[in-house]
Amino acid sequence: AKEAGRARMTLYDPSMDADREQRNALELDLRIAIESGDLTLAYQPLVDAGTHALTGVEALVRWNRPGHGPVSPELFIPIAETSGLIESLGLFVLRKACETAKQWPELNVSVNVSPGQFRNPAFTDYVRYVLKQTEIEASRITLEITEGYMIQNPQRTRQSIERLKGLGVKVALDDFGSGFSSIGYLRQFGFDRIKIDRSLVMGVNEDKRQREMLQATVALARSLDIPVTAEGIETEGQAVAMRLFGCDCLQGYLFGKPLTAERITEMLDELRTA
Ligand code: C2E
Ligand code: CA
Ligand code: CA
Ligand code: CA
Repeated sequence: AKEAGRARMTLYDPSMDADREQRNALELDLRIAIESGDLTLAYQPLVDAGTHALTGVEALVRWNRPGHGPVSPELFIPIAETSGLIESLGLFVLRKACETAKQWPELNVSVNVSPGQFRNPAFTDYVRYVLKQTEIEASRITLEITEGYMIQNPQRTRQSIERLKGLGVKVALDDFGSGFSSIGYLRQFGFDRIKIDRSLVMGVNEDKRQREMLQATVALARSLDIPVTAEGIETEGQAVAMRLFGCDCLQGYLFGKPLTAERITEMLDELRTA
């Protein structure tokens, strides 16, 4: 430790200290936010590709950091991962989403699971616990996982997915096409759904090669009987194309930004009385 300290001394850079200080402050504030229940969830609409009817929502965590304003989950989720906070953050998100979903019997609710949660051998136990505690119908919950962890631990991933499916929840592969995923993975893991990453969907009407790749990807997933969601739909053109390729579910600003739970409830009330 002494030697490491000396090595660090020789690389001394005051701006690095400032960075670390900021990060530590952020981590501390995040810890406090989790403990005092200051995180909230936003819910983004998922719609049927054919009718554009609301079929579900994806829960997305939100943090309004005191004195700083909203912080992107793209920034604080990785910090939660490396500082041991992801467990309690993830538990909060899952419990809150399941509790809230009870008011929306007609909707499916997707919840993001980060690798740090999924890696925990007790993860399935706490999913079971939350399902029981909130008395939510398991089949209405979809857990979205990304491929990073999967590739490192295919064996354990397969087991975890199997156990989760045994509880009755659905498991989706998130951000498909953004990383190293190979279509070969899809069959062996038993995913109930894949979500095509926004970075791919964006170029669908601009780049011929990307269009063909996307089309082939959706076709392959469908040949394995796995339904496909396209995320990040911002234009009519993208919605039409992704539907044409065979996506059954669409998500994106075109259909709705992430909204408060109250707003989703109002939307459902309007639909019920329409
Ligand atoms: P994600 O799971 O891929 O979620 C979709 C992200 O894309 C959300 O950003 C959403 O607001 C954004 N988005 C949706 N439609 C559009 C669109 O049409 N255009 C554009 N430009 N963006 C769109 P958000 O909420 O900032 O979340 C970013 C990422 O942070 C998520 O990506 C997910 O990886 C992570 N995340 C968010 N909430 C949670 C959570 O509760 N738990 C975990 N583990 N991760 C979360
Ligand atoms: Ca997601
Ligand atoms: Ca995604
Ligand atoms: Ca993403």
